[in-house]
Amino acid sequence: MVRARRETVIGIVVTSLPIVAAAIIAALLFPGGGERIIALFSIYLVAVLGIGIYAGNSGIVSFGHVGFMAIGAYASGLLTINPVIQKTSLPHLPQWLADMQLPFIPALAAALLVVVFVAVLIGIPIARLGGSAASIATLGFLIIVHVVLVASTNFTRGSQTFFGIPRAVGLWMALPFAIGAVAVARIYRDSTVGLKLRASREDEIAATAVGVNVRLHRFVSWVLGAVLAGVAGALLAHFIGAFSPKDFYFNLTFMLLAMLILGGVTTVSGAVGGTALIMVLVEMLRKFESGLDLGPISLPTVFGLTDIGVGLAILVVMYRLKDGLFGVRELDERLKFLRRFTENPNGVRSGSPETHISPPTGDGALRIENVSKTFSGLVALENANFNIEPGMVIGLIGPNGAGKSTLINSISGIVPPSTGRVLIDGREIASLPTHAVPVAGLGRTFQNIRLFRNLTVLENVVVAASAVRRHGEDPRDGARLALAEVGLGEYVDQLAGELSYGAQRRLEIARALALKPRYLLLDEPAAGMNPAETEDLMHVLDRIRSRYRLGLLVVEHDLKLIMRLCDKVVVLNKGQQIAVGAPAEVQSDPAVIEAYVGRRRPAVSGLDPRPKNAASLSAGRSLQHPALKPEGDLG
Ligand code: ADP
Ligand code: MG
Repeated sequence: MVRARRETVIGIVVTSLPIVAAAIIAALLFPGGGERIIALFSIYLVAVLGIGIYAGNSGIVSFGHVGFMAIGAYASGLLTINPVIQKTSLPHLPQWLADMQLPFIPALAAALLVVVFVAVLIGIPIARLGGSAASIATLGFLIIVHVVLVASTNFTRGSQTFFGIPRAVGLWMALPFAIGAVAVARIYRDSTVGLKLRASREDEIAATAVGVNVRLHRFVSWVLGAVLAGVAGALLAHFIGAFSPKDFYFNLTFMLLAMLILGGVTTVSGAVGGTALIMVLVEMLRKFESGLDLGPISLPTVFGLTDIGVGLAILVVMYRLKDGLFGVRELDERLKFLRRFTENPNGVRSGSPETHISPPTGDGALRIENVSKTFSGLVALENANFNIEPGMVIGLIGPNGAGKSTLINSISGIVPPSTGRVLIDGREIASLPTHAVPVAGLGRTFQNIRLFRNLTVLENVVVAASAVRRHGEDPRDGARLALAEVGLGEYVDQLAGELSYGAQRRLEIARALALKPRYLLLDEPAAGMNPAETEDLMHVLDRIRSRYRLGLLVVEHDLKLIMRLCDKVVVLNKGQQIAVGAPAEVQSDPAVIEAYVGRRRPAVSGLDPRPKNAASLSAGRSLQHPALKPEGDLG
């Protein structure tokens, strides 16, 4: 916690210093014009950060936040507008509103109440959506706000200019809001709440599987972003003094998005850098756009030059750097010399592992009762029935398409079972919301690795650790222990996507382990590993099983490995559970042999086919090459 706070504070200072410096330089050297530019920059920055809090962390582009700017502008403007002008320009205002005359700050506060009200109302349905569906919904919201403003002539003068707003905002009023917005955005981003949303941006399914309530966090960031946008709208209104609904529409939306995308949507430093760059670019191009007279050379007016320039800048940057100029890490996270001010990131703090990743308390088994799953007519799994006791390793085997991944998805709630029950300690977990299943004691990994690729190794695991953190606990401690457990202690600061394949598999296990689960479901954890890596992994699994008395369910194609590691083996074939029992029993089960060999050998007298087939099974032949497997969507 200490480290997080200190890093965040350093980040805020590093990001704000250039803004403050620019303001001071402008005030000293370029009073008037320069000051106005920095003031406008500060206002835009608040808006860009507002969009960024939602879009950057959730990964959903928002076109709607300019709608909140409009609400902030009009609502605050109605409360501060010059009463003499109001009498003539807005004669049909209700009396109570016409009588109200507030200074800027109270008007801002009142406007924000309206913004929050609308944001909550709209946020509930929008938070249910992801990806482009959510983006389109935000666009719909922007259009609705625009139409309502144009239609509410009694309050807004319709599409005519709304004027007479006192120009209460200058550089020194706007600047503190910009710094405040930087702080809010950075604190949110660095908090575990923001981290959870960033994890869902990287992989929504994996985030849910480590206990993230994606909808809730999308909603929170939507409302928080709306508040910043509302502040920016009110500031802008009191900076320019007169505006109309079209000033808060597509043009502004695209300019603010350009600022965000150019710098990099996911970082606060990116928002600051992108806003500054676009402002400089726009100021320069505007000069050219209206034609230039440089003595002998005079340039003609070029219509649309500014928009073309901004568009080109985005194209060039995206072509070279898809994550924007600043990438996915904050500026200060890259500056090595700043590391000195933060704690040693590698050291696991005091305490033995047992004190942190506490062993399970209850003794109840994980019961899988008649679990079936049908995909639009296709029976992928039928009546799976077995138990996993704590400290026990169950092998789950079967040919491709047998339903192994479907079983794991059903147990973990990622693909809820069509029928059947899953119980831990007698408690039904299949009916829980998906994000509550991991917290109830069930961790899992995926057949095709699902990491939060643009988060660091430590952050990947902290997401899980914070889902089960107890009061006063630092989730980073639990995360470091889980990482040490799988031998990734030295990689904490690396991006997960940059790890080697084997390390990525181990990171997925560490992430699941940080949930302090009682049961761990591993879908082909050794797929794609070389024999040495596989051997290593088996030691890790054996150790965590005995140290934490974990119940493990392991899908694996290497039968030799399964026979060595497992206490019990469950065999699936074409969705049917065809055998369950001790490895030796299962190995000699005719049904299993048939499933693997594919045909029943004719019983020739004097030649019992069983031992032969069993021998070929136990020879450790890998039945499918993992690389040849078709990868299911949720594997
Ligand atoms: P395994 O992991 O044993 O190789 P799966 O559980 O991935 O097998 O697949 C079992 C069957 O269910 C396959 O026929 C597969 O095509 C089907 N299946 C799996 N996931 C889906 C899905 N999301 N939608 C439709 N069919 C699916
Ligand atoms: Mg599978």
